[in-house]
Amino acid sequence: MVDDRDGGTGIGDTAESGVGPIVLRGTAASPGLSVGRAFVIDRRRIKTPKRHIADDEVQSEIARFDAALAASSDQLDRIKRKLAEKEGEDHFLILEAHQLILHDEHLVEPTRRRIREEKVNAEWALRKTVEEIKAVFDAIEEDYFRERRSDVDFVGDRILRTLLGVDTVPTLPPAGAIIVAHDLSPADTAHLHRAACGAFATDVGGKTSHSAILARAFEIPSVVGLDNITDHVGNGDLLIVDGMRGEVIIRPTPEQCEEYRGKARSHLHFMRELLANRDLPAETQDGARVRLYANVEIVEEVPTALDHGAEGIGLYRTEFLYLDRPDLPKEEEHFMHARGVLRRLYPYPATFRTFDLGGDKAAPFPGLQPEENPALGLRSIRLCLKERPLFKAQLRGLLRASVHGRMRIMFPMISGVGEFREAKAVLDEAKAELEKEGVPFDPKVPVGIMVEMPAAVMVADLLAREADFLSIGTNDLIQYALAIDRVNEHVGYLYHPLHPAILRMIRYVVDAGHAAGVRVGLCGEMAGEPMFSLVLLGLGLDEMSMNSTSIPVVKSVLRGAKLSVARELAEHALSLPTAADIEALVHDHMKERYPQDLLRAAGDVLV
Ligand code: PEP
Ligand code: MG
Repeated sequence: MVDDRDGGTGIGDTAESGVGPIVLRGTAASPGLSVGRAFVIDRRRIKTPKRHIADDEVQSEIARFDAALAASSDQLDRIKRKLAEKEGEDHFLILEAHQLILHDEHLVEPTRRRIREEKVNAEWALRKTVEEIKAVFDAIEEDYFRERRSDVDFVGDRILRTLLGVDTVPTLPPAGAIIVAHDLSPADTAHLHRAACGAFATDVGGKTSHSAILARAFEIPSVVGLDNITDHVGNGDLLIVDGMRGEVIIRPTPEQCEEYRGKARSHLHFMRELLANRDLPAETQDGARVRLYANVEIVEEVPTALDHGAEGIGLYRTEFLYLDRPDLPKEEEHFMHARGVLRRLYPYPATFRTFDLGGDKAAPFPGLQPEENPALGLRSIRLCLKERPLFKAQLRGLLRASVHGRMRIMFPMISGVGEFREAKAVLDEAKAELEKEGVPFDPKVPVGIMVEMPAAVMVADLLAREADFLSIGTNDLIQYALAIDRVNEHVGYLYHPLHPAILRMIRYVVDAGHAAGVRVGLCGEMAGEPMFSLVLLGLGLDEMSMNSTSIPVVKSVLRGAKLSVARELAEHALSLPTAADIEALVHDHMKERYPQDLLRAAGDVLV
């Protein structure tokens, strides 16, 4: 969402203290623009007192610690209730994860033991335990675990504040304020969301951090990973947050404020107007119909998807269910989770991709060794097939849910027919078991694959004969076809979705799918870039699945298009020798036909 408010503090737009504007760049975590006053939340200043206790104080100190645990859990319950009043119950999971940490034996037992054996106060014992847990996470070279480390921090901070009787909830900022923090806990994010804040800007965090995920679900513009914004910003400083470019301008000039307020206003207006197409089909002027689906990571995003006109979920990244917790999801949880999603979406379909862990999403499975080359290692379907009991549990849960709506099951990173058959054999086993147990499921649930390996492209015709649908995952396909690690910023300059090799691959897969009579979709990030929409249409895709907020923009491009023209554009593009030639062609073609705002609404591609 775009916010054109100015923070409501009424202070003029000056470059205060004679300090000129500073531009900080981070990770664009949630799209939108906001101009407002900083509201700095410094959760790091709290000091932990250390005190030795007498033998006869041990029991009462442990009781004090236990009471603080219970009170902290009650606080989280209250936040959940307030959220439920406003948002429904979808945002609970993350707060529940914090409640689980709160009662985790690795936190509770060592703290009690320290009080007992080291004869120290509860605050100090807790601090030592939290440090110990964080050190374990620190030793793991994975962004994901570094982010989980901050969950332990937030929970520790909450208990500490409760023990000390210090506020656990930040004071609500004025509406429209820009929240600046080292990091935000999911509970903070939910709490701040109620204050209708303008944007978030944090030192740390990545696209998968919980705050980023919730910011997207709540449509609050957000830039994370800014490194040291808390060193540069004081309370009340004027800021501009550009959640599309991943930029924050600190103490902008009045001219910059004016410019961004103008941009924010027109962007807001523009996005609202686009939402008017929510219930209209993604149909070209000459009657070609494309299905626009949403990519979803957590259940909280489902309402956002529907609000933006998604006609279903084209990619449900179920691996997120495994990532935020000390244990692993069981069959029952898969069932309940999928059933909730299907019921909410009905009559639209939801495509559940089986867990795509490994690679840059480290699998939280015991006994897995770090790999030299994780992108080419034990990831995705390979991991599903290795961890069969976990895979089977997921498939059984999904199958049981399949009678509650329109489900599709999709296997990630399939290399060829052999691997696909192997995965389907596990699915058949799960079906046979359920049948024997008399548990209902949809025996005809469509089963498809992601085409994200060049090998799968080359055998797409063979795969299409045995799959109910194909979905091209260009994020990985580009990584593997052009040999560029998708998480390595040094080779980011080689990432060209319009590279002739990529376009030929898409065309090849579409033709192979259609020849076998199956639908072909695309669910990589490129599907959500309006600049690419016509080429993709012209290549013949039946479905495009993307970040929910891109749907109205892409739909607008498609509704203004003609399939015949898109086909010509795609043919012309396919005849050109270099990515640069194709980009120039597409850029000129699109700029001639569509307003600049529309083309850059989802980001800065080729604009
Ligand atoms: C892809 O690879 O294009 C894809 C959609 O899957 P993910 O980004 O989750 O790897
Ligand atoms: Mg992928």
